[in-house]
Amino acid sequence: RPMSSNVAAYEVDEEAVRVQWLMPRQAVLGMANHQREHYNFSFTGIFDVDAKQDAVFENVAQKVILGALDGFNGTIFAYGQTGSGKTYTITGGAEHYVDRGIIPRAISLIFSELGTRSEYTYTMHFSYLEIYNETGYDLLNPDHETKELEDLPKVILLEDDDSKIHLRNLSTHLATNEEEALNLLFLGDTNRMISATPMNMASSRSHCIFTAYVEARKAGEDTVRRSKLHLVDLAGSERASKTGIDGQILKEAKYINLSLHFLEQVIIALHEKIQGKPRSHIPYRNSMMTSVLRDSLGGNCRTVMIATVSVAQDQLEETISTCRFAQRVA
Ligand code: ADP
Ligand code: MG
Repeated sequence: RPMSSNVAAYEVDEEAVRVQWLMPRQAVLGMANHQREHYNFSFTGIFDVDAKQDAVFENVAQKVILGALDGFNGTIFAYGQTGSGKTYTITGGAEHYVDRGIIPRAISLIFSELGTRSEYTYTMHFSYLEIYNETGYDLLNPDHETKELEDLPKVILLEDDDSKIHLRNLSTHLATNEEEALNLLFLGDTNRMISATPMNMASSRSHCIFTAYVEARKAGEDTVRRSKLHLVDLAGSERASKTGIDGQILKEAKYINLSLHFLEQVIIALHEKIQGKPRSHIPYRNSMMTSVLRDSLGGNCRTVMIATVSVAQDQLEETISTCRFAQRVA
């Protein structure tokens, strides 16, 4: 996320964290005035501060989205501290069309692709789930207009005999074109914002999962091919400061840290499995997030984690922590 004089939290301009882009995949982080202290990281790819939304979409998201239309489950996460650009990356900025993030671009790509694929008939449904303190809320519940989020039925995880996860009380909505799907996104985002107040639920303290369900029927055949695409805006990864935090924030922080930790454990376990290390068990059941994403993280699927960082010096510690996380799961 670039420096911006409009954003109050990032006024420290001159002493920016210096990020050297050594090679496309490697970053050295250091403070401009502390030349000797360097941290080295390497990733699958790095976007500089002037990278635009279309470049991010084409380089990291497009393949996952097209894969979902071809029958592969897919997941794209944004991970990072509050204010580092997760929502900007996943949903986008509201003001300018070029600032559209991954979800609206994905919707656009899906429906333009479907128009060109004649061998299959596609049906698209969408859902929008928010997870706050390990409790699931349906951001597209039709009763949202008349009731508070708190008073709506909670989303409940059910596991069937085949270990398949079902989500009770999470509504799925048919969309037959780009506009209908975008309206679902806007409705969910509005509900996310207006429901943030009653129980003090700042949107940065919850995980949000926008899911596209793909059904593809081949002409002349009875079978239906199903796949899912999850676009995930994770809760802010920052550590709550230890001084002066009240019970509510402490509880939130505990849930967030734990669920991000469990997500990391699952990804690392999946890696070890792919690398052939003996691994009997992937710990999906530890959190709601990993349970929901269970069939879209391991196995027949494509997963991308985007780590977002700020270049402000006063955020250096969190930046290092985010880079460490991204390095561990890369
Ligand atoms: P987060 O969701 O991680 O808390 P946001 O996505 O809300 O962070 O970003 C914080 C602010 O910075 C927003 O005003 C957003 O529009 C802006 N911002 C984030 N990333 C970028 C970027 N790459 N380019 C321009 N503005 C950005
Ligand atoms: Mg956000």
